[in-house]
Amino acid sequence: MMRIERITNGIVLDHIKAGVGIEILKLFPTELLRTKIDYASYVDSPSMHVKDIIKIENVDVNPATLLKLALLSPSITISIIRNGHVQSKMTPEIPPLVEGVLTCTNPKCITLLESYLSSRFHVSWNADGRIRKQCAYCEHIIR
Ligand SMILES: [Zn+2]
Repeated sequence: MMRIERITNGIVLDHIKAGVGIEILKLFPTELLRTKIDYASYVDSPSMHVKDIIKIENVDVNPATLLKLALLSPSITISIIRNGHVQSKMTPEIPPLVEGVLTCTNPKCITLLESYLSSRFHVSWNADGRIRKQCAYCEHIIR
């Protein structure tokens, strides 16, 4: 059993799809520069075989970040830690239409050409359990 350090206040991101933790860390760039972070990749997990875990001290997550976390790893669980105790634990839900969070990768997409338009993506699930994110404007599917 691998142990990673306890935090007193902050967030614990658990059940992250193995290898995706590094992408998730990029969602917290400014906080990363000046707080304690514990990042473990490919940890044994009874429910997932292997998973990543991230603990970040003295940060909070806003609803937009929660959605980005869920889109990167739908299995993620987020625990808010206060004074050494789990104050709340959640698995964010992914709505069928995601606005303003993702960016279309089609260089000809109108959302890139007209900056007043915020992005809109239809989110659904592939047969293999992966998320399918399709631009509502140009129908391009992003990874
Ligand atoms: Zn598009």
